[in-house]
Amino acid sequence: MALIVQKYGGSSVGSIDKIKKIAEKVKGYRDQGDQVVVVVSAMGGETDRLTELAGDLSGKPVPREMDVLLSTGEQVTIALLAMALQHIDCDARSFTGWQVPIVSDEYHSKARIEEIKEANLRAALDAGQVAVVAGFQGITSDGSISTLGRGGSDTTAVALAAALGTDECQIYTDVDGVYTTDPRVVPNARRLEKITFEEMLEMASLGSKVLQIRAVEFAGKYGVPLRVLSTFEEGPGTLITLEEYVEEPIISGIAFTKDESQLTVLGVPDRPGIAYAVLGPIGEANIEVDMILQNVSGDSSSDYTLTDFTFTVHKRDYEAAKEMLEKVAPEIGAREVAGTPNVCKVSLVGVGMRSHANVAARMFKVLADENVNIRMISTTEIKISIVVENKYLELAVRALHDEFDLDEEPKKVESELTPTDEQ
Ligand code: ASP
Ligand code: MG
Repeated sequence: MALIVQKYGGSSVGSIDKIKKIAEKVKGYRDQGDQVVVVVSAMGGETDRLTELAGDLSGKPVPREMDVLLSTGEQVTIALLAMALQHIDCDARSFTGWQVPIVSDEYHSKARIEEIKEANLRAALDAGQVAVVAGFQGITSDGSISTLGRGGSDTTAVALAAALGTDECQIYTDVDGVYTTDPRVVPNARRLEKITFEEMLEMASLGSKVLQIRAVEFAGKYGVPLRVLSTFEEGPGTLITLEEYVEEPIISGIAFTKDESQLTVLGVPDRPGIAYAVLGPIGEANIEVDMILQNVSGDSSSDYTLTDFTFTVHKRDYEAAKEMLEKVAPEIGAREVAGTPNVCKVSLVGVGMRSHANVAARMFKVLADENVNIRMISTTEIKISIVVENKYLELAVRALHDEFDLDEEPKKVESELTPTDEQ
């Protein structure tokens, strides 16, 4: 008998038919003798619909009331799924966030879970019931309803799995796992059998939107293995784990995003404080800056050298950021502000990079052969990112997928496969 936590996303509970199918599936586990906690999202599109309703009222909604509104979506699905289970003779009980309770801090719309009291859930499970828990919602210490940020049901599931000490947290969704890259761009992209938390975080934050980033962070922190699986198709999905294996593939995947824009301040006198002068106002305006580059400049025609300062922001923030730079530029004696509102970022991700030196060179050779012009480069221990013009995106991703043989199953290491007779 195992204790399992499963989470079904909005597209998996999008209709009564789908809810009935999930009920059958959950009952299958229960009949095998497992104890099951099911976390559900709101029916697909419901959270957006509720958000629009609030938007139709003039003025800015008070965050506390917004959370009261948005949490109703999940309350509908827990009731329906519990009914569907009861209907097929599988005893079940629904739990809102506050009935568990899942206690959070008071930051409405982006609350963080502080504590989960498990007694009520354990009592239901011990009584043979399936516990159906509303995702995305919690309760603050002063009794207000909170929500955990868009996609927050993933975090609810991971937090419950951590609190209950389950072996694995299963995230059921409309794709059958995490892929080496977007199959719409590379048709022979391959489903990964496993990926590390570190890699998944890079893949997720770079645009592979299978899981909420916060949920991956949480799972990594508490060491809860996650498995992403398809709701309506059989298959092993992708396991996201802490483990690294003896011989990791060098590259696990290629992430990309088309939503970037690039800004440059040219001819900035290189003095202490310029990075702050340029980026301070951007940060204060809550605009997220991604890659940052400052040049070493050899131009010493005056008492000080001049440098260039380049960074990327989401393209929706391009105009606002550019305006700010144009204000700052004369104040710091910069020559000019330039920018490109539409660029994309392509990243190779893989923990295997740590032990292989020539990945960057291989990457740049492929791009050179394809005549792709690179505008920016940045690296971490497990990632190499480049910024290129949008028109190169697909070419670059396909060429790199090919070069690193991502369509092929990674080779198994001999020693893992052959049992030894010495022992
Ligand atoms: N219903 C919420 C959303 O759409 C939470 C979730 O689905 O995870 O963001
Ligand atoms: Mg989701």
